[in-house]
Amino acid sequence: MQLFVNRTRSVAQVDDLYVPDVDTATSRRGLLGALAAAGAAMAGWAVAPRFFGRPQQEASMQAAEQTNTSPRALQAVFAPGPEHWVGDGFFVKTVFWPQLDAQMLSPFLLLDHAARRRFDASPYRRGVGEHPHRGFETVTFAYQGEIEHRDSAGGGGRIGAGDVQWMTAASGVVHEEKHAQAFAERGGDFEMVQLWVNLPASKKMSEPRYQSLLDREFPRLQLDAAEARLIAGSLAGQTGPAKTHTPITTLDLCFREDGTSEVELPAGWTTLVFPLEGDLTAGPDRTPIAARHFGVFDRDDDGAVQLHASKGARVLLLAGKPLDEPVVAYGPFVMNTREEIGQAFRDYQSGRMGRLL
Ligand code: MN
Repeated sequence: MQLFVNRTRSVAQVDDLYVPDVDTATSRRGLLGALAAAGAAMAGWAVAPRFFGRPQQEASMQAAEQTNTSPRALQAVFAPGPEHWVGDGFFVKTVFWPQLDAQMLSPFLLLDHAARRRFDASPYRRGVGEHPHRGFETVTFAYQGEIEHRDSAGGGGRIGAGDVQWMTAASGVVHEEKHAQAFAERGGDFEMVQLWVNLPASKKMSEPRYQSLLDREFPRLQLDAAEARLIAGSLAGQTGPAKTHTPITTLDLCFREDGTSEVELPAGWTTLVFPLEGDLTAGPDRTPIAARHFGVFDRDDDGAVQLHASKGARVLLLAGKPLDEPVVAYGPFVMNTREEIGQAFRDYQSGRMGRLL
């Protein structure tokens, strides 16, 4: 029998939707999604979060005895928002967003998941037209289909299944995000994730950067039952190719069999887990995290992150050092103060973030 410290914290289960009022949704989507926000408002989303106490203490002890380790405690599980269109190319669930709890999520801001969806062949390229960003990074994970990006800083490219685009808007870019021409003409299945990563105040006005990272560049790690692709950060003697402005580890796991995967991550970091597909449990109580929900681990716990999943489950694991700075997110801009948001709008409107040619 082991002694356990700090294992009595309850796991909050937030089963229902956070309240994205029109202002919040509009501010989050900004120029992109005013229509989606209006639709959401009409649908009347407004459900108070529900919290459930943790199961009995015995469950924790049993799980610990089975594994003979101290798995990192899970702090909360959240349900995603409803599906909505971003432009006409991305039918997403917003899994988390800055207004949910910016300090809990830091340095991560937002995660949209477009689940697998078939698009018919069309000469027209679906997607999102020209729009700006400032103060953070957009990271796009392509799982199926092909996406083409183009920005005013000269960045751009096409990414396909398994590839990742890490776009640092920093001081500002104007860009478009669309299905690739060849994919649009051919049609087919499409799935992607877009993650927003915040920048520290000291980097918000630095030069934009564009990284196109191909599937074959990601080191493969065998983490017990799962194979992981290491996108950013260092783990088990390997380093992912993505350059980040603050310490971040990003892993894309696929379970090859029913079982457990254990990942050692730094204590003090924000650690989030997002199952795209499949049955997942985590933490000492093996708390279920349903597909497309997300779990937050206890930042003060230095135990290993233990994930238990069924064969075929696919899981994104995000870990990063919190920024501990104020977050003011409005539409396509994420800064530290309201004044800086106002300046971002003025700079965009006067063309100082550039134009797409
Ligand atoms: Mn964008």
